[in-house]
Amino acid sequence: MTPKAKKKPEPVRIRLKKNDLVEVTTGKEKGKTGKVLKVFREKNQVLVEKVNMIKRHTRPSPTAGQGGIVEKEAPLNVAKVMLICPKCATPTRFTMTTTAEGKKARVCRKCKELIDG
Ligand SMILES: [Zn+2]
Repeated sequence: MTPKAKKKPEPVRIRLKKNDLVEVTTGKEKGKTGKVLKVFREKNQVLVEKVNMIKRHTRPSPTAGQGGIVEKEAPLNVAKVMLICPKCATPTRFTMTTTAEGKKARVCRKCKELIDG
């Protein structure tokens, strides 16, 4: 038996943050929008509120209560989502800039407004 070398996903620079509003651009969840709940940088994945829901069957337990079917979000590849600019409300590409205060901020390529700030 030859153990297959586990290939780590090439880390991409994820510029999305928790609470960002994103739109899914591809796949069966295409067109859905939601808030980023969590970013998994080492896996290039994000968890988006109410997107890519999966059903989990749980057993009754003192911690989980009655058990049954629980719906929860499954992580999506970061390449499948696009940030929605809060200023122009469009899924957008953005660039990085440094503000006058020396902070890194994202700028919408469309309306040129700062996304962070
Ligand atoms: Zn914009």
